Amino acid sequence: MAQLAIFGGEPIRSKPFARWPQFDEREKSALMEVLESGVWGGYNSQVAEFEQVFATFHETKYGVTAANGTVTLETALLAAGIRAGDEVIVPPISFIATATAVLRVGAVPVFADIDEATYNLDPTRIRAAITERTRAIIPVHFAGQPADLDAIIEIAERHDLIVIEDCAHAHGATWRGRRVGSFGTFGSFSFQASKNMTAGEGGILTTNDRTLAERARSICNQGRRSGGAWYEHVRLGTNFRLSGWQAAVLLVQLARLSEQLATRSANARFLTEQLAQCEIVTPPYVDERVTGHSYYLYPLRLNRERFPDLTKEHFVRALAAEGIPVAEGYPQPLYAQHVFALYEQRRGDCPAAERMCEEVCWVSHEIMLAQPGDLRDFVAAVAKVRDGVTELTRRAAV
Ligand SMILES: *Cc1c(COP(=O)(O)O)cnc(C)c1O
Repeated sequence: MAQLAIFGGEPIRSKPFARWPQFDEREKSALMEVLESGVWGGYNSQVAEFEQVFATFHETKYGVTAANGTVTLETALLAAGIRAGDEVIVPPISFIATATAVLRVGAVPVFADIDEATYNLDPTRIRAAITERTRAIIPVHFAGQPADLDAIIEIAERHDLIVIEDCAHAHGATWRGRRVGSFGTFGSFSFQASKNMTAGEGGILTTNDRTLAERARSICNQGRRSGGAWYEHVRLGTNFRLSGWQAAVLLVQLARLSEQLATRSANARFLTEQLAQCEIVTPPYVDERVTGHSYYLYPLRLNRERFPDLTKEHFVRALAAEGIPVAEGYPQPLYAQHVFALYEQRRGDCPAAERMCEEVCWVSHEIMLAQPGDLRDFVAAVAKVRDGVTELTRRAAV
């Protein structure tokens, strides 16, 4: 049996995987065009062009860009009239912005547990969390897999709730053949550096509601109204505008997205097939109603029934030594963060989320852009760690 690289053996792989972000001449010439236009800010025509193209791609009428995918959530909440004392249901498995955006507008985040298999909000737990103060739900399409939009939209209609889809992981993903961001009142996307489309920073809201789109745009643009005078400010707004540079880069990134989604899906099929019998980790479960998973992350769940002493940390370190980068994933559910301490959520409230934080690590999307055959090393390294797992857990214990 080959010695694990973490204990001095030969690593499986020495070649690095793809880096992120990716760009070519198209981004360079797009940036030069903005440079020479002299219009560098949010009024560059490429901003409006990108908004339209992105909204259309996500099967919605309106796109409102903003500085990032955190303020898009805040803006959506404000535009929808969420205010102090309102409750907003959020998952405990997400980036912190999903829940802090709720606090930032003075409302109360209420955490509902995730589904054990998909890591997305569990509709049963959403129903149980609804009170007379509930006004909205923010489902996150975790890892790029759409949440159960059938159930969420049904619950929202029944209880007259706003739905803001947090699509920060899910550019281009589809549920029953339709793009995410088109099901809720708003879709919110991020173009932060790690995301599947990026301009370093940036965000956009998608919606079919003209009034809400106008209100969101006004909030992001100092309370101006479309067609209004420069110094006419009809509401409390701020400056959340995206720049021309970002829009120009994002137009190119969007043109590349479909091909990248296809590559990631093909690699995910390969990994899921190859890892099915590996014993040490379980590949992600994909709901059959998901017609397009964007694989921002490819989650792997440690088989702790079989290997109770194996931790994420040791598994990830052993793979890293083999030349395979895997991220440890979220260390704890969001409600364990200090900022939510007032909100009475306690350890044990969301057992599926807590288990997930113990057991699930993930592969990030740039690795899912590997060339055909390039992930064989990945599979070989997982098999090697599985073969060496007894020594790994024994030596980790001392
Ligand atoms: C990245 C992310 C955000 C925040 O986006 P920024 O552009 O970094 O502000 C919000 N929600 C989720 C789920 C994210 O992953």
